[in-house]
Amino acid sequence: MKPPPFTHHACRSVEEAVGLLDSDADAKVISGGQSLVPMMNLRLANPSSLVDLNRIPGLNTVDAGPRGITIGATARQHDVETSAGVATAIPLIGAALGHVGHPQIRNRGTVVGSLCHADPAAELPAVFATLGGTVTAQSPAGTRTIEAADFFDSYLTTTLEANEIATAVTFTVPQPGTGWSFDEVTRRHGDFAIIGVITLVTLVAGAVTDARVTVFGGGGTPQRIAAAERLLVGTAAGDVDDDLVRSGAEAVSAALTPAGDIHGSAEYRRHVAGVLFSRGIRTSLDRAAA
Ligand SMILES: Cc1cc2nc3c(=O)[nH]c(=O)nc-3n(C[C@H](O)[C@H](O)[C@H](O)COP(=O)(O)OP(=O)(O)OC[C@H]3O[C@@H](n4cnc5c(N)ncnc54)[C@H](O)[C@@H]3O)c2cc1C
Repeated sequence: MKPPPFTHHACRSVEEAVGLLDSDADAKVISGGQSLVPMMNLRLANPSSLVDLNRIPGLNTVDAGPRGITIGATARQHDVETSAGVATAIPLIGAALGHVGHPQIRNRGTVVGSLCHADPAAELPAVFATLGGTVTAQSPAGTRTIEAADFFDSYLTTTLEANEIATAVTFTVPQPGTGWSFDEVTRRHGDFAIIGVITLVTLVAGAVTDARVTVFGGGGTPQRIAAAERLLVGTAAGDVDDDLVRSGAEAVSAALTPAGDIHGSAEYRRHVAGVLFSRGIRTSLDRAAA
């Protein structure tokens, strides 16, 4: 199916793009087009015009610094997946990207676009919610930064204003001594998650000083599970035994109120989230101790 008619603006600057967005309430930004175009083809989106970022110079950068990895709005998922700097500083990002669709989609799709699309079963929003960081947003009024914890509002909705463009995202590099895990259940490799769990654990002198547990596919946004995180922080790594992991898994399951659908019931999602947590937390601890 082809999309309904629209006007295409091949913008040459961010200022031109935000001006166009500001002047047309029915305009939409397009970056990789891997979510927006299918939605237009299915008549789930019907923008009057597309504000195309792809010809704007300087937006396709991937900068790996010691504290953060900054990815420009038109940098492709493939560029990030194959960046040596990203792999060294935050291997979790590459691991998650390997589950995003297929190589053809990652050749075109962008990391920033995935965050702006905010599919609750998508991998990259969950990575952002786990690591923390900021989105840089520009509108005719100027530039602001939005913390990861404030970015996802609800299903397919962020806190970006209608006339704002996300020009970049910065993922915070975890502290030394941090281990991670990423796991999801899908019907086929490359599908969106039926349910997925990311864990991060930081060890200092053998004790957990920071723990992060994020579930995706279990609600309208990626969900940090504070109850499971609290169980781990302050515990010596050697004391994370089967009982504690079981309590953590129960806390994960109890925190979720997922919807059921043809891919899995709510109860199935709750149960599997607990299982993925149990596996993931051990992987994170092993990696943190290595
Ligand atoms: C067959 C198929 C399978 C897929 N499987 C997965 C999967 O398993 N996991 C997964 O996470 N994704 C999957 N995707 C989606 C893919 O990752 C998309 O690339 C991503 O969701 C959106 O990035 P994009 O650059 O293509 O954004 P676009 O499609 O261009 O835009 C998506 C939305 O974000 C807005 N937007 C984009 N960029 C900006 C910006 N800079 N500022 C403000 N708003 C912006 C657009 O207006 C639009 O509403 C799949 C896609 C396809 C076609």
